[in-house]
Amino acid sequence: MCCLIVTIKKLITLKISKSIFENILKYFQVIFIIIHNIIYNNLLFYSFVMENIEICKFLIQKGLIKDSMACNYCLELMDMKESNDNPETYNWRCMNTLCIHYQTTKSIRLGSFFQSFQAPIMEVYNTISLYCTLPRQIDVVKQSKMSKSFIKNLRKKIILKMCEYFEQHPIRLGGPGVVVQVDETKINFNAKSHRGLGPSTPCWAFCIVDTSHSPAKGYIELIERRNAESLLPIISKVVRPGSIIHSDEWRAYNQIEKTGIYEHMKVVHKYNFVDPDTGTHTQHVESFNNKIKYKIKMAKGVPKDFRPKFITEFLFFDTFKECVFEKFLDIIKVIN
Ligand SMILES: [Zn+2]
Repeated sequence: MCCLIVTIKKLITLKISKSIFENILKYFQVIFIIIHNIIYNNLLFYSFVMENIEICKFLIQKGLIKDSMACNYCLELMDMKESNDNPETYNWRCMNTLCIHYQTTKSIRLGSFFQSFQAPIMEVYNTISLYCTLPRQIDVVKQSKMSKSFIKNLRKKIILKMCEYFEQHPIRLGGPGVVVQVDETKINFNAKSHRGLGPSTPCWAFCIVDTSHSPAKGYIELIERRNAESLLPIISKVVRPGSIIHSDEWRAYNQIEKTGIYEHMKVVHKYNFVDPDTGTHTQHVESFNNKIKYKIKMAKGVPKDFRPKFITEFLFFDTFKECVFEKFLDIIKVIN
């Protein structure tokens, strides 16, 4: 809600001195965020008139906090009661008069994604919504009006959940007769080396895309070396047997056919971008490569220790595209 007020304020106070074009772009951005909030936050759009108990019910209905809690001492189910020790003003309380710890309490956040945050759940929720919608961390800081350290901490925890998700649901691409394209690409994580990120040291990433989806569904992994020993295990892990793999003429790919589980076709880039006889090309995987490069450019570089996490975050956003927020809410649901 807070971000809505901020965006409306911005709408009114945009400086006339700026070019009309710039202002139109800003209006669109603001209107987009408002529409996003109305659609995706549904009830939360009216959260300024919602009672705290309604907020708790809303979070339970979304599966974001537990719908029941048992007392540790008497094992009876606790009641949700008003309390002043948290921003939601409610907690779970044991109301069993026979319990040795009658009226003992538990937080409504217990066992949820929100457990480790001090800020009101609604603010965390709204900031996640902005994080899933806006392209850069700096935009989230501006729109949410939350502190930079809060956003940084939230992002870290969100990415941790994304990592867990991919560990449990690894990306698998292709299938019998499906064309997948593979390519190794040089990535320069230091978009601007003068920003104190150290000298520019490009590293390699290996990308795979499934062309049966539009736009192509992809996978990316950072690699130390681009030899067959590094690339083939990734192909076996990600690409389903029976797939037709399209690649360029890089020598490591000569081993693909020998595995006996894939068909392999290549295009020799020295002569053509699309093989005139077979139609083989790697343009989908190249445009996938460009997406990660663009993302790095937008972030103005990525520190070394954050790179694998950055890749996971990119992959989550790319895999779930328009429904990142809904998907994220889905993975942080509590198991009742
Ligand atoms: Zn009890």
